[in-house]
Amino acid sequence: MSRRLLLLGASLFAPASLASTVSQWFQADNPALLFSLLILVLVIGGGLLTLLFHHLEASSFRRLHGQLTLMPVAVALVRKKDGHLIYGNKPCRQLLGVRKINERYLYPDGLSSKMLCDFLRPFTGLKAFRDVDEALLQSNGKVIPLLVSGQSIRCQWQPCWLLFIDSPRSRHGEQTKLENEQRIFQQVLNSLSELVYFKDKSGKLIGTNKAFDRFWRGRLDEGITEEQDIGALGNTASHTWTTAPDGSSRLLETNCNLLIGDTGEAIGTLSISHDVTDWHEMQEVLKTEIEKREVTEQELAQRNTLLDTILSASRDPIALYNEHGVYVGCNEPFARSLGYTQQSLLGKSAADVLEPDKYELFRQTDLQVIQQGISVKLDDYVILEDGTPIWYEVLKSPYRDPTDDTTGVLMMARDVTERKMAEQQLADAIMELQELSFVDSLTKVANRRSFDEQLRKMWYSHIREQHPLTLILCDIDYFKAFNDNYGHQQGDFALREVAKVLRSVVKRETDEVARYGGEEFAFLLPNTSLEGGQVVATEIHRALAEKGLTHRYSDIASILTVSLGVATLTPKPNQDYGELVELADVALYRAKAAGRNCTMTMSEKEAG
Ligand code: GH3
Ligand code: MG
Ligand code: MG
Repeated sequence: MSRRLLLLGASLFAPASLASTVSQWFQADNPALLFSLLILVLVIGGGLLTLLFHHLEASSFRRLHGQLTLMPVAVALVRKKDGHLIYGNKPCRQLLGVRKINERYLYPDGLSSKMLCDFLRPFTGLKAFRDVDEALLQSNGKVIPLLVSGQSIRCQWQPCWLLFIDSPRSRHGEQTKLENEQRIFQQVLNSLSELVYFKDKSGKLIGTNKAFDRFWRGRLDEGITEEQDIGALGNTASHTWTTAPDGSSRLLETNCNLLIGDTGEAIGTLSISHDVTDWHEMQEVLKTEIEKREVTEQELAQRNTLLDTILSASRDPIALYNEHGVYVGCNEPFARSLGYTQQSLLGKSAADVLEPDKYELFRQTDLQVIQQGISVKLDDYVILEDGTPIWYEVLKSPYRDPTDDTTGVLMMARDVTERKMAEQQLADAIMELQELSFVDSLTKVANRRSFDEQLRKMWYSHIREQHPLTLILCDIDYFKAFNDNYGHQQGDFALREVAKVLRSVVKRETDEVARYGGEEFAFLLPNTSLEGGQVVATEIHRALAEKGLTHRYSDIASILTVSLGVATLTPKPNQDYGELVELADVALYRAKAAGRNCTMTMSEKEAG
């Protein structure tokens, strides 16, 4: 049985022996069964063959499809028998307006399968045709001229036309586009101020721009350089002096570039010349400037050295600061006077270093120096870290930095502490002298001179203001007896003690107590009425009694007492202050006469 099957298998692919094999089978065993088997085998074999051919056909169509997709020209695959469009690549779809829906391709409006059949009918029986003119009427009424070539092929078991469609207009369009591009390129070249020319690889001039033509008119040879062997030429630059059409001398920098074609070989040269005369002249000026600057810098360096030497040689503080108050130079004594070292002070601002009050004062004089350009002298003092005060006479002068034209202040300080001290001592001495001349040396209250001066001043101010002025004259009772019995020294002591008591009585700042004579005192009470004077008088008696200075030789008490004469006047113009003294004197006389240790008063009315 198996042998028979093998025979059958072999006979499937050998149709010639099929009949004899079948007849053998029919003769053997069960003929009906054998026939059925034979049919089955034929069906399966046929199916397999169909699948195989279908697969081969499909893969060949895919291959074709792939190739057509990549083609840059419009290609369409059309079934011969009915003009059905099997495939159209992208350029075809763009040119004819063919639509692709899923894997189906549809003709555009104005084109149909029938029209294709009509067009292709004349070529029936041919294997190919070339460049047949045809026009396609579009739905918008426009006519597209076409140039169609065809190739007869079999595709998907069917005879088809592979059509190559071209539009003469697109060729024309490309040509126009190219010409446009060339025109734009030439316009661009002409708009350049650089001189441009091209040469082919044999060295023949093939193009120039307008700037080149204008510059080299009538002397073209001069403008075109003779390059060496083009193969050995890289991109080179050269400089040449020449004469421009206007007669001026110009320096041209020419860059010669090798032009390389698509295939990589040299196809010519492009030369571009720039006018670099201005740039060259600028460079020359710059070079001269740099040389000058170097000389200036050297001079400045020398000056700086000189300045440093002066700064460090001076024992007086010296500093330079700019208009913003930043220290740009100083010596050690200056830095030390501010509690800094030279290095730590440089670069700092006066605002950071000085006390706010002092900075404000200094800034004012700085502005004067900088704005008015004058030198200013002022006194200043600093207190060193150890507490020593130092007086400086400061001279500020304007300066201008020649390197950057900035302005600032040169400050030089001279230690004048000794002179200031002497001045101070002198002032103190003068003050002392003045005090001496106005103060009674024994009792330390105002002396007679001071009293007279004060009385005169008060008198006139009271005339102006029309206020009452009160004078109290005070005389110690039986003081001669005190001196005679206790001695003169004890007498002086008693006078000092009395003066202290009297001083303690006056409370107002403007009230004055003075030694009027030997053991006489006077009170001048501005803006005080007679009643006020009496209050003070009572207070004098009370205070002395409280002090209780022993006087055993007095006829009226065992302690020192005084008699007081009080007078008050609101002085009139042209009235003399002697009148007030006289009134007080009369009042004192009356107090003595009344038994002493009492007060008597005299007023205007009584005087009247
Ligand atoms: P009366 O009560 O009348 O004033 O009697 P009195 O003794 O005080 O008389 P008078 O005023 O004339 O005396 C003045 C005396 O004051 C004379 C002198 O001994 C004494 N005297 C004056 N000036 C000084 C002085 O500066 N020092 C001393 N120790 N005594 C002086
Ligand atoms: Mg007296
Ligand atoms: Mg007396």
